[in-house]
Amino acid sequence: MQRSELITLIPKERKKEYKKDSLRISNLEGTKLAVQKNVRSFLKESKFLNQSKENLNILKNLKSSYEKLFNNEEFLVEDFVLSGHELLEYQKLDVDHKLRYLLYRYKYNSYPKQFVTGDYPPCVQIEPTSICNYRCVMCYQKDISFSKKSNGFMGHMDINLFKKIIDELEGKIEAVTLASRGEPTLHQKLPEMLKYLNGKFLGLKLNTNASLLTEKLSHEILSSDIQTLVFSIDAADKENYEKIRVNGSYEKLTKNLETFHRIKEKHYSKSKIITRVSGVAINETISSDDMQKVWGKFVETVALVNFAPLDDTYNNPINNLEGSCSELWRRMFIWWDGKANPCDVDYKSILSKSNVNKEMIKDIWNSEWYDLIRNKHLEKKRGELNPCKRCINT
Ligand code: SF4
Repeated sequence: MQRSELITLIPKERKKEYKKDSLRISNLEGTKLAVQKNVRSFLKESKFLNQSKENLNILKNLKSSYEKLFNNEEFLVEDFVLSGHELLEYQKLDVDHKLRYLLYRYKYNSYPKQFVTGDYPPCVQIEPTSICNYRCVMCYQKDISFSKKSNGFMGHMDINLFKKIIDELEGKIEAVTLASRGEPTLHQKLPEMLKYLNGKFLGLKLNTNASLLTEKLSHEILSSDIQTLVFSIDAADKENYEKIRVNGSYEKLTKNLETFHRIKEKHYSKSKIITRVSGVAINETISSDDMQKVWGKFVETVALVNFAPLDDTYNNPINNLEGSCSELWRRMFIWWDGKANPCDVDYKSILSKSNVNKEMIKDIWNSEWYDLIRNKHLEKKRGELNPCKRCINT
């Protein structure tokens, strides 16, 4: 497949983080330092009773990391402190949720570095649908062998399957993201899903292209338990937006964001939801400063991520990367039909051997197959796995 000429920034290796210096946060009350001091005091002054051995170990590492932060000491692999958008998330939490949040962010960020598997993935990404109304130039949806309906990859998740997944995850993990290969708002039962999620997870996230963000849906999202709502927008101006986000209308997007923002201000002024505009840095013209100028009035954060060449995963050149892929210790993706996959770079699920209709998520995460993939990565043999051998994620 021909890669779009708009894509000119292709990293040699891609880590799961924002593009350097691209994160803009409009309303982080006080300074970042003040929030860090607040975390340090919380860790020092709270009594953490009835914690598991695993949690006590994490708390020991967190406390030591915060001392090192303030004493300017070097960090080791087990050290972790909150940064960037996490400080905003932490600041918005009720005090009785702060411990849960710190434990979850530690697992999310630090377990992939220490190669700790745990009982469950720190985050589960569920796709309500694999269908998308856009054909963005950097996305696998433009691969017709994937998005053509008759090829079997397209579909909506059954609501009962969704509930079964949530029932297993409730109380076991904190982070669930609704999104992966398709546009979640295309699922007619998304509002029912949001209601079912209420009160069950701290790190609930929804990604959307905002094209179907009606007043009704805005109310449903704002009265839900979503912690972070991500609008996927890759440009500040109409020309670039519509070239990149094929099928998208800049006017409609602007109107939908205005409407959402108006409803939020008027009816949900105490809402703790964090809104973010996120873009993929596919070329040098995409700038978070420009995006902040245009979209910053509607959202609290703006950020860019580096491009992952998943528009043509299976034809990318084989590379010689040897680093382990963090996804194998961080997230599990569950497709609309129940297939469990380690990532969405592999959008045709070559790496998948399991389905949550038949197996528990916990068992899949700790299965022989998952361990085999992890071990190949740890032994610097990811080149023996397809599509890992063509992937730049570490
Ligand atoms: S294809 Fe392999 S290396 Fe790439 S994100 Fe997926 S699991 Fe990681």
